[in-house]
Amino acid sequence: MKAFYAEEQKRHDPKAFLSSGAAKPNPEMPERVERLLAGAISAGYAIERPRNHGLGPVAALHTPEYLDFLEHIFERWQRIEGASAEVIPNIHPIARSGSYPASAVGQAGYHMADTACPISGETWQSALWSAWSAVEAAETVMAGAPAAYALCRPPGHHAFADVAGGFCFINNSAVAAQVLRKQAARVAILDVDLHHGNGTQGIFYARPDVLTVSLHADPVRFYPFFWGHADERGEGPGLGYNLNLPLPRKSADAAFLEALGVAFQRIRAFSPDALVVALGLDAFEGDPFGGLSVTTPGFSRIGEAIAKLGLPTVIVQEGGYLCDELGDNLTAFLTGFGGKKS
Ligand SMILES: [Zn+2]
Repeated sequence: MKAFYAEEQKRHDPKAFLSSGAAKPNPEMPERVERLLAGAISAGYAIERPRNHGLGPVAALHTPEYLDFLEHIFERWQRIEGASAEVIPNIHPIARSGSYPASAVGQAGYHMADTACPISGETWQSALWSAWSAVEAAETVMAGAPAAYALCRPPGHHAFADVAGGFCFINNSAVAAQVLRKQAARVAILDVDLHHGNGTQGIFYARPDVLTVSLHADPVRFYPFFWGHADERGEGPGLGYNLNLPLPRKSADAAFLEALGVAFQRIRAFSPDALVVALGLDAFEGDPFGGLSVTTPGFSRIGEAIAKLGLPTVIVQEGGYLCDELGDNLTAFLTGFGGKKS
């Protein structure tokens, strides 16, 4: 099976990160790419470079002012005397009921949810190529492949239509789902990342054509805090088309697979024509975030269980941070899913 990735995706190299207010190295490091590439190759996937798909598939979901911000903010930021080397917000609108700010500092606060997604001169191109990897994987599945893997880095599931957050800029999983919608009347997104896919939920919250399901560590005391709770079910025509399955901290394979069973019931009832898996590997017991305790064989069982849905599937990389087993966990998932069978 095919995997998609472009070298440009590695250039984004964020430095700043605040964890409980303390400065730490940003965990979304370019080295993740090497581990994930090795993992995909071990599973028998052939790595291909995506084509340049232009702004169309990204602008289908993200607002023009947000995309303009992502493309130009670094250059504008550098003109501010004494500003930080990377774009990092220090003021946010407490509610988005006021006016759209004209200043670079104001716009950084408007378009960035937190300090985990600093923007450098390389960020825009890396994020675009990451999204184009997702587009290419979706088009491959639309052309008849049973599945394809997009090595999306930077990741995407915390990005809303006009807000970056949690290492994410362009919502690659959402972009893949929207591309699939050209052929598929209904698309389901199953997010198995450690963290709730709040951006994806936000983008499709009022839509009944894309079902969003997320398994994650309970946000009651975990990022992204404000979203991911079980009572968030969608709104308007999208009411009932969002399912959150928060898990107690340190939940291991059995609890994760049980919740996955609940997710499958909902997905089967929705009867989608295609599936996007937002594949975070940070639910791993040895991941630096330490939120859940899924094992390496557990990822294999998760992949195997998802394959049984029998749907054309786009697998989009989300989180999963540096640890010895990062590549092995991807291999385990893809092999369980069926990576060596075709
Ligand atoms: Zn995550």
